[in-house]
Amino acid sequence: MLQVAIVGAGPAGFYTAEALVRRLAADVAIDLIDALPTPYGLIRAGVAPDHQSIKSVDRRYHAVLAGGVRFVGDVTVGEGGVTVDDLLGLYDAVVLATGAPHDRRLGIPGEDLPGVIGSGAFVGWYNGHPDHADLDVPLAHPGVAVIGNGNVALDVARVLAKTPGELAASDLAAHARAALAASGVRDIHIVGRRGPYQASFTPKETGELGELARARPVVDLADLPGAAGDAGLEPGLRKVVGYLRAFAAALPDARPVAINFDFFSRPVAITADGGELRLTDERTRLEGNTAVGTGVMRTIACGLIVGAIGYRSDAITGVPFDPVRGHVVNDGGRVAARLYVAGWARRGPSGTIGTNKPDGAEIAARITADIAPGDRAGAEGLDLLLAARGLRPVTFADWQAIDAAEVAAASHPAPREKFVRREALRALAARQ
Ligand code: NAP
Repeated sequence: MLQVAIVGAGPAGFYTAEALVRRLAADVAIDLIDALPTPYGLIRAGVAPDHQSIKSVDRRYHAVLAGGVRFVGDVTVGEGGVTVDDLLGLYDAVVLATGAPHDRRLGIPGEDLPGVIGSGAFVGWYNGHPDHADLDVPLAHPGVAVIGNGNVALDVARVLAKTPGELAASDLAAHARAALAASGVRDIHIVGRRGPYQASFTPKETGELGELARARPVVDLADLPGAAGDAGLEPGLRKVVGYLRAFAAALPDARPVAINFDFFSRPVAITADGGELRLTDERTRLEGNTAVGTGVMRTIACGLIVGAIGYRSDAITGVPFDPVRGHVVNDGGRVAARLYVAGWARRGPSGTIGTNKPDGAEIAARITADIAPGDRAGAEGLDLLLAARGLRPVTFADWQAIDAAEVAAASHPAPREKFVRREALRALAARQ
């Protein structure tokens, strides 16, 4: 029997586990280890709470656990938990599927001021991630700047713009629900350093901004290239640009919240003045595909600035790490003998949840080609090691109890009321 440890119970970890089981059936035993007491990674803590249809993929992951892959939650791989070397001693193969949880830095003066928040932290806050539940999110000021032209920027803008009614059927964490209900945000700027043709938005996420109850998207027609160029675009981007053209053509209406698409705007500095932040950006123009400054500056007054410019992975002790690209050094998913990497930790923070599926299948194929079962201790050995270190893992049964408690605590039509403190999650697990 092949003994495999997968570190990270998010999409990359689950698709790798699923693919290994599909290949090896009863000849593989898998432990899916996560630092959080809850599984599902970005599905729980990253995908926007009002995108429940995307989150419903957790049923598929549930089936993986119900099928016998073991969930070992609340165990950190690194300081205070177990090391990668520990795992390599216990398992035939170890897969790192730890994602990219850290925000990339803006690299401009003022980015550490209070009220300047990375999207990882902001999205973690509204999704009830225990590490971000106490984030101070200033929402009293009407102005917000969201930096970046990717889907995360759209998620952040949409969640800020929606009414409590539009968020009622989401699994927004209670603290975020209350804060957003009292929000004074009226003027949201999505700040992109290049133009509409260079945006990384997808059609569904772009189109949604045109259908909000109290918010309207605002696009300056002058920022859109001549329509003749649209025919040469990749179909998804062509649709995105089509939405942007429709937004630019729409007449102003009475909806009180504006979502401004500020293309060709490169952030250069953030300052604070009294209770207000000022984002200074420079108008850009394209040289080829590159944004170059024009020297024309503008200032946006706001209370909150969210940098949604991508993520970086964790450097794990003993694992080679590329500090520039922000992911684990690997060759087609192979890191070292019997050590693999999958998902965002392997290839950087791009692609949808589904992109991890072929990625997981590829890693599973590599493992089965490279490795024959040995006589390592596997799950039993891990349990002994955890007990010796005084660590009590959260099991699948524990998670099911947490899940049931969250569903039971929800007020209709919300699907669940998340517990956001590690202690509360552990207490539910301990009742098992
Ligand atoms: P992303 O798609 O890579 O977009 C990052 C954006 O940040 C780009 O517009 C980039 O501009 C900009 N940027 C980078 N560095 C910058 C800087 N220093 N100053 C100003 N702008 C900067 O990343 P993301 O939005 O974090 O999304 C990550 C992945 O998750 C993507 O593949 C995304 O599609 C996916 N996702 C999907 C969904 C969904 O399907 N519903 C939802 C959320 C996320 P340049 O292009 O000029 O570099």
